[in-house]
Amino acid sequence: MPWLRHGFGTRLSAGWLTGGHLATTRQIHSDRILPVETPGPQGEGDALISNRPGIGLAIRTADCLPILIADPRHRAVAAIHAGWRGVVAEIAPKTIHAMCQRFDSRAEDLIVAIGPGIGACCFEVGPEVAAQFQLEGRVKVDLVGTTCRQLGRNGVSLGQISTSGMCSYCSPELLESYRREKEAAGRMVAAIEIVGLK
Ligand SMILES: [Zn+2]
Repeated sequence: MPWLRHGFGTRLSAGWLTGGHLATTRQIHSDRILPVETPGPQGEGDALISNRPGIGLAIRTADCLPILIADPRHRAVAAIHAGWRGVVAEIAPKTIHAMCQRFDSRAEDLIVAIGPGIGACCFEVGPEVAAQFQLEGRVKVDLVGTTCRQLGRNGVSLGQISTSGMCSYCSPELLESYRREKEAAGRMVAAIEIVGLK
């Protein structure tokens, strides 16, 4: 899509995205969605949506899912930070509803890319978190699969969704993982931008 620039950073690409055109948030594991009109800090929230060219919507992750969305029909984009709290809060479907309201997007037009985050292989949780996913006991939670099911219930079919297939915990050479490295973990930047008119 020539109107679009986007990517998922790794721990080898620190600083791949810099510049005054980025829009960022103070991420708080919420379902708060921030419409972006100008670059810079947008306040507290975990999803950014915009149809303005030349602004890179950027989020930072280390185990949480980075999710990028594009609407080719209306030329609108979104960047989402979704950890388990965000997934339980259904931040991805809520972001799509916000795009529908604000940009007249339709779920069936959207293209969704889910970047690397902690996989079901490594995301074992205790009973309290499991209960949030309608599961019992100590279980492994699949954040990507849960997100895909939520999107499916909201009109986005599996064919519209790309997933990285990579687990951040399993890939120490390439990916940051908070669960693996605790406070020493860095953050990976994912971003999406509507290319400005030349
Ligand atoms: Zn893993």
